[in-house]
Amino acid sequence: MSVRAEFDAWATDGRDKGMEDRHWHTAKHALARMPVESGDTVLDLGCGSGYAGRALSDTKNAGRVYGLDGSPAMAKNARSYTDAPNVGYVVGDFDDLPFADDTVDHVWSMEAFYYATDPEHTLEEIERILRPGGTFYCAVNYYEENVHSHEWQERIDVEMTRWSAEEYRAAFREAGLYVAEQDSIPDHEIEIPAVEAFPTEDWESREAMVERYRTYGTLLTVGVAP
Ligand code: SAH
Repeated sequence: MSVRAEFDAWATDGRDKGMEDRHWHTAKHALARMPVESGDTVLDLGCGSGYAGRALSDTKNAGRVYGLDGSPAMAKNARSYTDAPNVGYVVGDFDDLPFADDTVDHVWSMEAFYYATDPEHTLEEIERILRPGGTFYCAVNYYEENVHSHEWQERIDVEMTRWSAEEYRAAFREAGLYVAEQDSIPDHEIEIPAVEAFPTEDWESREAMVERYRTYGTLLTVGVAP
C-alpha cells in the first residue's frame, strides 16, 4: 500500500490525534532540547497532526514552520488545527524535499523517518537543505534494540527500515552530518490501555505490556550539518 493510502486512512479515522497524544510523552522532551532561535525556519518531516511545528512556534518563537507529509489527509487535518500565519503544511515525499539548498535551520521528525523508501537518500536531502550548523532531531520508537517494536511491520503495509542505534549514527555520518548526540527517552506517562484496545496474549500482565515503553523509550539521534 502507498504511504498516501495507508496514512490517509489513519488521518480520516482520527489516528493523527491519537499518535500526537502518545508521541507527545517523549517528543516534548526532545523538542525542548532543539536549539531553535527566534525567527528560525523549521521543518517537521512526516508531521502527522503537525503538533511539533506548532510547539516550536509557540515555545521557541520559530519564524517559518513547515510540516511535510506524504498523506494529503494528514496535511489537511494539521492545517485545520492552527490559524497561525507562520505555520504551513505541505504534501511531499521524503525522497525529494521541496526546499532549496541551505534554507532550513532545523529539521524534526518523530516516528516517520523509517518509512522513507530510501532512508540514506533522505538523510542526504536533509543535509542538503540544512544551513551550516543546522540540526536534524530524529526520534523513532521502531528500532533494532526495541525488540517489542519489531512486530509493528506486520501490522502496516508500508515497508519500514529497522536500524540499530549504531546504524543510525553511521548513516547520519555517511550522509555528511555530524552526530551531536544520541539518547533514548523513556515514556513515563504511558497508561495501561483499555482491554478492548490492546490484547494481552503475548504478555504476562497488562503492566508488563506497557513497561516496554518505559524501558526502551524513544531513540533520539541528533545530526548537525557542517
Ligand atoms: N510525526 C507524527 C506522525 C507520525 S506517523 C507524530 O509524531 O505523531 C508517520 C507520518 O509520516 C504519517 O503521517 C505519514 O503520512 C508520513 N510519511 C510516511 N512516509 C512518508 C514519506 N515517504 N514521505 C512523506 N511523509 C511520509
